[in-house]
Amino acid sequence: MPIKKKAQAPVKAKAPTKAKPQAKESEKKEVKTLETLRGMKDILPREGREWADVYRQAMDIAHAYGFQYMETPVVEPAQLFIRSIGRGTDVVDKEMYVFEDKDGSRVCLRPEFTASFVRAHIQHGLLNLPQPVKVWTWGQLFRHDRPQAGRYRQFHQFDCETFGELDPVVDAELIAVAYNFLRDLGIETTVHINSIGSLEDRQNYIMELVGYLKTKRSYLCEDCKKRLVKNPLRVLDCKEEGCRTVLQDAPQILDWLSTKSKNFFMSVIEYLDELKVEYTLDSTLVRGLDYYSDTVFEFFATNKEEGSQSALGGGGRYDGLFEQLGGRPTPACGFALGIERVLYAMPKAKPPVEGSMIEKPPRIFFAQLGDQARRRVLLLIEELRRKGVTVDFNIAKTSLKAQLEIADKVQATHTIIIGQKEVQDGTAIIRDMDSGIQETIDQKKVYQEVMKKLKRGEK
Ligand code: AMP
Repeated sequence: MPIKKKAQAPVKAKAPTKAKPQAKESEKKEVKTLETLRGMKDILPREGREWADVYRQAMDIAHAYGFQYMETPVVEPAQLFIRSIGRGTDVVDKEMYVFEDKDGSRVCLRPEFTASFVRAHIQHGLLNLPQPVKVWTWGQLFRHDRPQAGRYRQFHQFDCETFGELDPVVDAELIAVAYNFLRDLGIETTVHINSIGSLEDRQNYIMELVGYLKTKRSYLCEDCKKRLVKNPLRVLDCKEEGCRTVLQDAPQILDWLSTKSKNFFMSVIEYLDELKVEYTLDSTLVRGLDYYSDTVFEFFATNKEEGSQSALGGGGRYDGLFEQLGGRPTPACGFALGIERVLYAMPKAKPPVEGSMIEKPPRIFFAQLGDQARRRVLLLIEELRRKGVTVDFNIAKTSLKAQLEIADKVQATHTIIIGQKEVQDGTAIIRDMDSGIQETIDQKKVYQEVMKKLKRGEK
């Protein structure tokens, strides 16, 4: 079909315009830059390596203990957390990012993993798998809290959960996984542990506790006066001095445990002794969320003194949660560690831990001169990668000087240089970055030479 051309309007001759004077530098319209939301944090390239190392350490230990990876969505029905964590808790009442979705449903950004995991297990019938089901994950969580050091509105957790086994060894195993993970990262850790018994034990205890606290009401902080009505157990972990004094003579939950819960707790403790986990019995530890029962625990960096802010993570048993969310009765236990706080607690310039899986930083740098050499170097790097060796390089740079400067910056001990001549005769130069001494080797021997240098750790 012939294409009709649009009739073109005659082009009007433009009246000559006066050249506009150039806008002065100061009059130029400024484009506003944008920044992260309050309480949100970018992970910058300089931190990337540490994050990746900690992630790998988490993955290695989880797999070594037989946990399988799983993921749940960041966005969930708001009801999931309201029904599990419970009203009267800070997480649900104050901190959840809840909003209306386009279809009018109430959704939220997940504030924790446990409830999502339980939902997923019920939804997909995962409990029909051989028991126990052991899963782990890692990811972002969201709580609209007041930001301060170590407290963000978006943060990360490493989380492990065990479903389908009512045995104290499960609690001890989970505690040992978190404890050893932290210790492998060089963090001196103490576990605070307590039992809050069954729902019935707790109800009896709460009556006794409220009776006592009412007699001391005037000494309590304003928040605790409210907690006394809404969630009295939360008074136990208040850090206000007045409240702490009142709590010194408060009834202790351990005295209200049934024989069954007491025996269960004693077994957990015995296992921890055998596993050489350092712990402290902490009668004020309750963890505050509705779904916990029996064992509850938190992990603290031994050398950090500033109270609850330095808790690296925590967890506990939640045998009633599956039923609460419409599933069949299923015992369960889990922990979550806050990665931002773990990274903060890690000793800087940490000496490598014996037997740790953390990859040592590469110390070999590859430099190239000329287009053919660049291709050859890319091939060699891929060959090494396939054999499990990672090295440093900057393929975008063309000058040798610039590449050697980068090699210095990344503290490479050796640089392997390939130029036009080396491509032709199948050789490579190894340069010792400290002494500047260079030797020529056969390109086919690059892998062996790199391994030798890395293994020996020699200069
Ligand atoms: P929780 O289940 O609330 O005890 O949280 C477990 C761990 O997650 C805490 O011990 C912290 O390490 C970390 N965490 C919780 N909330 C935040 C937050 N707002 N910012 C950073 N880390 C957090």
